[in-house]
Amino acid sequence: MIQIRNLHKSFDDLHILKGIDLEVGSGETVVIIGPSGSGKTTLLRCLNLLETPTSGSLELGALHLTFTPGKPLRRDETLALRRETGMVFQSYNLFPHMTALQNLMEGQVTVLGRSKAEAREKALQLLKKVGLADRADMYPHQLSGGQQQRVGIARAMAMDPKVLLFDEPTSALDPELVGEVLRVMKELAQEGMTMVVVTHEMKFARDVADKVVFIDGGVVVEQGPPEQVFEATQQERTKQFLNKLS
Ligand code: ADP
Repeated sequence: MIQIRNLHKSFDDLHILKGIDLEVGSGETVVIIGPSGSGKTTLLRCLNLLETPTSGSLELGALHLTFTPGKPLRRDETLALRRETGMVFQSYNLFPHMTALQNLMEGQVTVLGRSKAEAREKALQLLKKVGLADRADMYPHQLSGGQQQRVGIARAMAMDPKVLLFDEPTSALDPELVGEVLRVMKELAQEGMTMVVVTHEMKFARDVADKVVFIDGGVVVEQGPPEQVFEATQQERTKQFLNKLS
């Protein structure tokens, strides 16, 4: 589904991603772990072009994008990629002046051109799926952080993306609200949604990931199935990182 080849990203003279190669198969959940500042969020943002990679290539389904310094992507290429990817942010990023239902309808109507009736039906179905059918008419400030994040996930799903990208989706939550969000994510993974998740939740990585990718200093240091990365760790840098967590 996704193939990343030799991806680099610099911010001015700060070289952050230093040649990332990564594959995500259809229906897979890939969890990206690594120390703070290692480039995990930057990589995720490159996947939906919230950041433009400096060089390298990115394939998503039939889309093949090559990045060359000084040569911006065409607008239609950027939009095409964005349509295929749904992003779930650490800070939810819901529209504060819209109800949960309106948050889910907005993109469907304005970007995908769906009728209001169709968008509403899809929105209600997704709110039900994330356990919030009875909160459809509430505004974000009337919802708990866990509920807001579940609306965030449903909103991303409403656009029928090929891939869902999660940027530390539970980091801003009080500990007692983390579980309800991880449960929704686990359900989506089990239903075969393709997902790339940046998280510090190692239990989620162990339980749900098909592949765990450890990034440090802007390179992939180690990757493999969770039992391999956690139980039969190959690289010293990965061992040190995991030891610090336990
Ligand atoms: P992680 O998600 O692993 O904590 P990030 O991808 O957020 O790491 O950040 C990696 C590095 O890139 C950090 O040093 C950060 O300061 C830098 N960085 C991220 N975004 C920008 C930006 N827009 N401009 C300059 N530096 C940035």
